[in-house]
Amino acid sequence: MSTPIPQQILDELTDVRLPRNVRIAESREMRLIDGIEIPVYRYPAVVLGSGAAGLRAAVELKRRGIDVLVVTRKLFWGTSAFSGSDKQTLHTACTKHRGDDFTKMAQALGGGGAMDEDMAYVEAVGSIDAFAGLKFLGLPLPQDRYGAVLRYQTDHDEYGRATSCGPRTSRLMVKVLVEEAIRLGIPFIDHSTALSLLKTGSGDEERAAGLLVLNRTDHANPYGLSLIVSPNVVLASGGPGELYRDSVYPKNCFGSLGLALEAGIELSNLTEHQFGIGTRRTEFPWNLSGTYVQVMPYVYSTDESDGSGSEYNFLADYYRTTQELVSNVFRKGYQWPFHASRTLDYGSSLVDLAIFEETRRGRTVWLDFLRNPEAVPGDLPFDLQRLDPDVRSYLENSNALLETPIARLQRMNPLAIELYKQYRRDITRDPLPFNVNHQHMNGGIEVDIHARSSLDGCYAVGEIAGTHGVTRPGGAALNAGQVFGQRCAAHIHSRLQRQPEIVDEHQEILRKSLAWLQRNVGNSDGIALDALADEVQTRMSDCAGFICRVEDVAPALAAARKLNQKIAERGVNIAEPRLLSEGVLRVQTAWLSEAVLCALDHYIAHGGGSRGARMLCAGDGTKTPDSRLGRLGGYRFLAENEAQRSEKILLRYTPHKGIQVRERALRPIEDTGKIYFEKNWGAFLTGEIYR
Ligand SMILES: Cc1cc2nc3c(=O)[nH]c(=O)nc-3n(C[C@H](O)[C@H](O)[C@H](O)COP(=O)(O)OP(=O)(O)OC[C@H]3O[C@@H](n4cnc5c(N)ncnc54)[C@H](O)[C@@H]3O)c2cc1C
Repeated sequence: MSTPIPQQILDELTDVRLPRNVRIAESREMRLIDGIEIPVYRYPAVVLGSGAAGLRAAVELKRRGIDVLVVTRKLFWGTSAFSGSDKQTLHTACTKHRGDDFTKMAQALGGGGAMDEDMAYVEAVGSIDAFAGLKFLGLPLPQDRYGAVLRYQTDHDEYGRATSCGPRTSRLMVKVLVEEAIRLGIPFIDHSTALSLLKTGSGDEERAAGLLVLNRTDHANPYGLSLIVSPNVVLASGGPGELYRDSVYPKNCFGSLGLALEAGIELSNLTEHQFGIGTRRTEFPWNLSGTYVQVMPYVYSTDESDGSGSEYNFLADYYRTTQELVSNVFRKGYQWPFHASRTLDYGSSLVDLAIFEETRRGRTVWLDFLRNPEAVPGDLPFDLQRLDPDVRSYLENSNALLETPIARLQRMNPLAIELYKQYRRDITRDPLPFNVNHQHMNGGIEVDIHARSSLDGCYAVGEIAGTHGVTRPGGAALNAGQVFGQRCAAHIHSRLQRQPEIVDEHQEILRKSLAWLQRNVGNSDGIALDALADEVQTRMSDCAGFICRVEDVAPALAAARKLNQKIAERGVNIAEPRLLSEGVLRVQTAWLSEAVLCALDHYIAHGGGSRGARMLCAGDGTKTPDSRLGRLGGYRFLAENEAQRSEKILLRYTPHKGIQVRERALRPIEDTGKIYFEKNWGAFLTGEIYR
């Protein structure tokens, strides 16, 4: 930055303190089941999860006069509160200079395919309100002297629709939203994990009826079992951070896709994820995108994990010239997620592939901000005069044509340095170990334009919702959570005006859940939780990661099925009550892993090729990346089957049929140019737009 930034401002944007004085809900009713007392809470709407998406839904509901309860595993845990990057990004319609075009933005959001046209348009149009609401609540979005928000270009974004409050945009979103929740007096139940989704009715009449949760702070019964009765359940419990071993999610982010699966809710696009470079969650999970790589640090590997032993300038085996090497490291800044097609023609994803190969050899990969990249053998050394034109002009425009990576980073984004300092990593002194990690689940619960799932009365917002397609522009995840947080609230508001009272008859599920808990707590014959976690995560990272060998998928699916059968037969060993919620979540994650592998197996069997973040390697693949040292034959991969861009893969579990997978064509959108004020006003006034 050209203007020096005082330390106090750096601190405020990186060390974001969250208010803890939320209102705690109290139950005034008890239910007695088999001699066990269970507290009951009754609310017109309940939100599961207190990340940016869940809090937005709760605030929007309360502002519409609906008494809403927020139930959460940990008030300020989760991806929104604890993740970020150099400039964590919010992607909305561009509000500067010449403005934007919603139709074009929608096309960009769905550009990689497998995204419904109506959803993309809703996200584009809704981004304005989502964004304005956050600004109104005090989110410090940067703007110029005329009030236009500052923008930049990010992944899958040709236009420059990204903006950021710094490394911790999503935590700042949580902050302003929770402050609003406190102002509105929204009640919370903290330290509570969802065990089951309650349903009522059957067949076409089946609908959501609430949640059964394990509340660690309630001692009415030995398990903390509590009943939340509500006709409107908003699932906002985030992404499956514990699904993969190599993961840049904060620890203990599970989400509840397994719970949704068990409840028979339809899921979509489970094959679609994001993987990219970041520091490992065994140390401090953080994305290394944007300026971290645009300053072109030296990337190298060592034999030993503490950095000792021989040092390898391994990228030089892949790129042909020093200029090509450093320019591609730079491009990872805004081409951050791995993309199979970018491993071709010496593109930027060859960096991820090379890191994968080094890690496979047991080496540790490092970023060193004190050294410029080493030369490719036989070529000229690194020189700021020898950069690809796009790279050179970016650095020039940022006044950052400086001698060392750390000087460039200091100039372009001092917040990025400060952030690591707070986690006791001084990148002005020491190199950073990192690798390629699972970062986001693009798929999830299949929802419509009001965030409704396939179960009446059950909504999904944020990362648990499968709103994205194969690719998503950086920042679109945070935007989607805000847009659908608003939209589900508006829909629930309209629904509450016409829906009947909920029937409260949950004896059977309560008995079943109690029996499950009694069986698995202290079940020394059951599978140990650590072993369960290890088996699931290893299989997912090794067989369904960003580099995926086609021949590994079917055996991995068979092994995942076997594991779930074993869980059904032997149960798990929840050795002590404090591990109750972990036990439940590990079992749900094992379920989810089977579902993801099932979707992937189906996709491959139906001619699916490499797309988005996954490279499907196969002997009969038609594409092969090249390196300076020759063809990378071991990474020959299947090309994308473009016909599959126009469909989504849906998946559902039923007790009689097990997991079933099918495709459906993308939902189109009407010609929005033919929507006129007088013609369409009535539909708004009568609530027809929600039906
Ligand atoms: C390193 C990293 C960087 C990222 N950068 C960006 C970015 O720049 N731009 C962008 O758009 N996206 C980014 N993302 C993705 C984005 O941050 C997430 O998709 C988003 O924050 C998810 O918000 P959420 O509210 O859906 O879930 P979360 O913020 O994860 O919140 C989930 C909530 O649910 C609760 N919960 C979870 N499971 C249960 C359960 N079973 N029972 C009860 N409660 C439960 C948790 O305690 C938590 O409160 C990034 C992700 C990572 C990991």
